[in-house]
Amino acid sequence: MATTAAPALRFTRVPHPAPAAADVRAQVLANPGFGTKFSDHMVSIDWSESEGWHNAQILPYGPIALDPAAAVLHYAQEIFEGLKAYRLADGGIALFRPEANAARFNASARRLAMAEIPEDLFIAAVEQLVLTDQDWFPTVEGGSLYLRPFMFASEAFLGVRPAKAYRFMVIASPAGNYFKSGSPAVSIWVSDYTRAAPGGTGAAKCGGNYAASLVPTAEAFARGHDQVLFLDAADHKWIEELGGMNLFFAFDDGSIVTPPLGGTILPGITRESLIALAREEGLTVREERYSLDQWRADAASGKLVETFACGTAAVVTPVGKVADHNGEFTIGSGGPGQLTQKLRQRLVSIQRGEAADTHGWVKKI
Ligand code: PMP
Repeated sequence: MATTAAPALRFTRVPHPAPAAADVRAQVLANPGFGTKFSDHMVSIDWSESEGWHNAQILPYGPIALDPAAAVLHYAQEIFEGLKAYRLADGGIALFRPEANAARFNASARRLAMAEIPEDLFIAAVEQLVLTDQDWFPTVEGGSLYLRPFMFASEAFLGVRPAKAYRFMVIASPAGNYFKSGSPAVSIWVSDYTRAAPGGTGAAKCGGNYAASLVPTAEAFARGHDQVLFLDAADHKWIEELGGMNLFFAFDDGSIVTPPLGGTILPGITRESLIALAREEGLTVREERYSLDQWRADAASGKLVETFACGTAAVVTPVGKVADHNGEFTIGSGGPGQLTQKLRQRLVSIQRGEAADTHGWVKKI
């Protein structure tokens, strides 16, 4: 769908009339959890065929009015992103690779037949919100301000065709350390369900993919596991990804494998960053298919030494146990492995401004 050239949009500011009281905010920031508390403001920008991007606003956080016929409510024309703002060691604030999120957002927009947003407008919107609500950074160690840009079809129309009006929004949620370092590794259930098929929307970050993953996720939880793993749709054999994280497999010869981006998995920004860091560590990284059967066999023989999952929310998380209908197997000692911890530490220290940012990943604001 048409891309509108970046207009020089000015954000209109409507300050919150009654922002959270300092003591209430302090309580939230000391124990933020994940995804349940939100900062005082939000960004909203509209797009229409006739006006392009317009009406950029920073508003008090709160409910929005939506026409009941808005296309998103019927045909799920919706996409989103997830990125974090960090307080740096020097007290400043930075985003991690926001241009990569902007690019992926537009790739998702193209797949969902939605208007693309100029990358600089996407980044400006995120930065404006972070600056407005910079009192909302968690005070707990490992905390960050999680940012959720999203866009939905706002046109009131029930015909099945791409909408002609969209709203882009950004909200911010203080987030704690998803998994504390040294915590036990996660346990994974291999689903019988399929997340994404060739030619489908698997590589897009659209709400529909997550709606389809809820039953498999609930099943994994009900069976006592932490995460769900999806295999490929055609052969139900090749490992794809977890419900919200990409996977890496580390072998005793110093090599690492991660499933290739073939259109059915999300091109994770953490995945891409870890590939670069692992190569710098002298490891051989291969993006190639790896089967569940091979994984089980390699775990048993000891050839496979570690498996870890990665994503913005949990950064790098060790996988300890894997189960499907054929039974369970353990990876290595079942706890966090050395390489997992090392790569996690390297990435986190770059994100927090404690290590040199040789890749230009850290965008100070
Ligand atoms: N796969 C899926 C399905 C996800 O939802 C996410 C989280 N965005 C990831 C992988 C990891 O992506 P990223 O590293 O960009 O957060």
